[in-house]
Amino acid sequence: MKKTVSRRPAANKTTVSLRCFEEKCRARYPITDAKPFCPACGGLLEVHYEWGDLDPEALKQRWRTRKMSTDPRDLSGVWRFREMIPFLPPEARIVTLREGNTPLLDAPRSAAYADMDRLRFKHQGFNPTGSFKDNGMTTGISQAVALGRKVVACVSTGNTSASLAAYAATGGLQAVILIPAGQVATGKLAQALEYGALTIQVETNFDGTWKLLSRLVEEAGVYLLNSVNPFRVEGQKTIIVEMMEQLEWQAPDWIVLPGGNLGNCSAFGKALREMRQLKLLDRMPRLAVIQAEGAAPLYQLFQRAAAEKKAPQELSLCPVENPTTLATAIKIGAPVSWKKTLQEIEATRGVCEKVSEQEIADAKAVIGRSGIGCEPASAATLAGIRKLVASNVIRKNDQVVAVLTGNLMKDPDYVLAYHQGTLAFSVAGKQRPIESRFGNPPVSVPADVESIKRLLVAGSK
Ligand SMILES: *Cc1c(COP(=O)(O)O)cnc(C)c1O
Repeated sequence: MKKTVSRRPAANKTTVSLRCFEEKCRARYPITDAKPFCPACGGLLEVHYEWGDLDPEALKQRWRTRKMSTDPRDLSGVWRFREMIPFLPPEARIVTLREGNTPLLDAPRSAAYADMDRLRFKHQGFNPTGSFKDNGMTTGISQAVALGRKVVACVSTGNTSASLAAYAATGGLQAVILIPAGQVATGKLAQALEYGALTIQVETNFDGTWKLLSRLVEEAGVYLLNSVNPFRVEGQKTIIVEMMEQLEWQAPDWIVLPGGNLGNCSAFGKALREMRQLKLLDRMPRLAVIQAEGAAPLYQLFQRAAAEKKAPQELSLCPVENPTTLATAIKIGAPVSWKKTLQEIEATRGVCEKVSEQEIADAKAVIGRSGIGCEPASAATLAGIRKLVASNVIRKNDQVVAVLTGNLMKDPDYVLAYHQGTLAFSVAGKQRPIESRFGNPPVSVPADVESIKRLLVAGSK
């Protein structure tokens, strides 16, 4: 009998490289290159895939089945979706703390506050160190381990350092953290110390510490895990994949997030584009990026573009010299990933809005009253949605998911000051009070049951 030779070509495999993000350059490098920026032009790098044959329905099924598995990769809400982030060789060690797996919460009170029919929060504050930085740190640290690096570093407004410290400790690496003195929320600094990172406070702001770290990377060979690191972006993409799975693959109209260094926005846009390519999404949701008024360089760029009747891509970002906001996680004057974000806003027909300190504080308290809670930067989402609904950009009956980026307990000083009516922020040396519109101050009574009963009666009215 004659043997029949199969003529079917082998299934197309996905290939991966590092690629310069700059359109004029687009230089390619092996995925194992460890330079933080493009050696040819200094641009940002991105992980670039040529996708092989992947059946979207089979992928969805496989990801669902993995929920029953006890493999550490399947227990992670990032690595469960590893087909979307295939940059590591199969034998690589993965450093995980079971990140991701965060809930999608219905929030009727917050919806009513924004004058919407329905609003859902994807709460990244449920992560192991309490922010979405963990989604990116598991991939960033795993890559550092794959590259054989021993020392990892970042400059941080707080959550990156907390996350870096935890994942470096888990992976057996030394973490070095540069922090702008006095500008990091208590909970975050406490975490970095507890997880054993070498924590260095520098007398400058975020952008100043960033310059120092760049020198350390060049001169002392440490591996940079700031949000320029393209492997962190890969992990943060899975926030969107997990969200879509929770939405049973029905794309919402809007995904709303706060914008600081704009790494997360870049990650969300990349996830959405790649999911469209892989036919995992039937349509493109729109991204809405919300910035704090005192740290809104991206918003200003869009305003200038509109005023000058130009495409935003034709302009460059003007950094905000002295960014001011109590939402320290988004207190950034010169966001590194602004060009990537412009591309993603264009690809998703997105928008950028800004909100005031009072609006952030009010929205945060409303999210708290919903039993959910978050840190100030996260609350910029609800404040922004309220504004965008009022200006008819978002419609009342649109499907909206807001991403709450960090946990309530990150910044207890802010919470206490708000409820006690002492919250204030300074602009140009002047203290401006923030009204405690939804304040819930503690009440003092003598040790006497009758006075407590009177309070109960008053409280039930
Ligand atoms: C880092 C962070 C942000 C800002 O994200 P970018 O990627 O820098 O834009 C917002 N909220 C929280 C809680 C964060 O930790």
